[in-house]
Amino acid sequence: MVTGESAFPLHEAVGAVHLHSNFSDGSLPIEEIAAIASRKKINFLLFSDHNTLEPRRLGLEGWKEDVLVLIGCEINDADDRNHYLAFLIDREIDPKMSAEEYVAHIWSMGGFGIIAHPAEKRNFSDAYPPYPWTAWNAKGFDGIEIWNQLSEWMEGLTRLNMLWRIWHPLRSIRFPVWETLQRWDQLNRERRITGIGGIDVHAFPFRIGFISIEIYPYKVQFRSIRTHVLTSRPLINERGEKLPWREAESVVFEALKQGRCFVVNYSVGDGRGFRFWGEQNNRVYQMGDRWCSKGTITFRAVTPLTGKIHLLRDGKRVCRAKGKELVCSGDQPGVYRVEVFRKNRGWIYSNPMVWMQ
Ligand SMILES: [Zn+2]
Ligand SMILES: [Zn+2]
Repeated sequence: MVTGESAFPLHEAVGAVHLHSNFSDGSLPIEEIAAIASRKKINFLLFSDHNTLEPRRLGLEGWKEDVLVLIGCEINDADDRNHYLAFLIDREIDPKMSAEEYVAHIWSMGGFGIIAHPAEKRNFSDAYPPYPWTAWNAKGFDGIEIWNQLSEWMEGLTRLNMLWRIWHPLRSIRFPVWETLQRWDQLNRERRITGIGGIDVHAFPFRIGFISIEIYPYKVQFRSIRTHVLTSRPLINERGEKLPWREAESVVFEALKQGRCFVVNYSVGDGRGFRFWGEQNNRVYQMGDRWCSKGTITFRAVTPLTGKIHLLRDGKRVCRAKGKELVCSGDQPGVYRVEVFRKNRGWIYSNPMVWMQ
């Protein structure tokens, strides 16, 4: 049998994406956050402080022990809407730009841009309004945040469950927003749009009357949503040698651009080892691939722990399996991806592979 590993000689790296440090509204310095991430076995961090690349200019990128720190920023428009995570850029954008303008601008500079929390709906408090994406006519975005841990935590928040949520923050992580997944499937019919999972970690103090509590310390947030990439080269090899950080940065972004990644909710299980691929006419296709061909295809998915594995075509479930493996054959082109559930919650969301007409 072909296994995930022999089907792809790729290397897995585990990332935490969409982090705020004390350069904007996060609560800790980047070095301290990296030290916490190292203890949590996270391989790379993508920081996106609001509207500043100052930490990048100060040379805070690179290896911090065994954690690769990469720095972009989170951009917004003049109305503080349309939040956009921009990476691989050296200069901040003009704050007067519209979302359509900055998406095109980041693309023209060779950057990598991700639409943040596109369907945010939280309405708990005027101090924390929702920031949904509205500029869907924008051209040139590379990715979309299919799951934002902070949005989900805030969305279901009420005066009644607030204390429970503060004490058990990870239990509020249940599923990505269905509307976003549906849009993501539609977008992928046209071109590749990478799905990532963001933590949006701030660890900000939250006021309840006179009491100020730090909700969600970084070490807890790092047990929530992670984005795994499958890379062409290991960031650190078996001998413990690290790629020079600039090369490691290209390797990570190459995987993200190719859509070779998946999102894992760590509050219900470690996702390392998950693989999803398709076999057709003696060829193997994987997440991010887009191709045209004829003939029957066999999709396979393997998971490191047992779960309920669903295969979706154009957003509709076409196969399901219980356990650690799914095998499913079909002859219909479409946008194919896998969702895995554990403990009645979403666990792993693959990026799609697209068999085109
Ligand atoms: Zn935001
Ligand atoms: Zn943010």
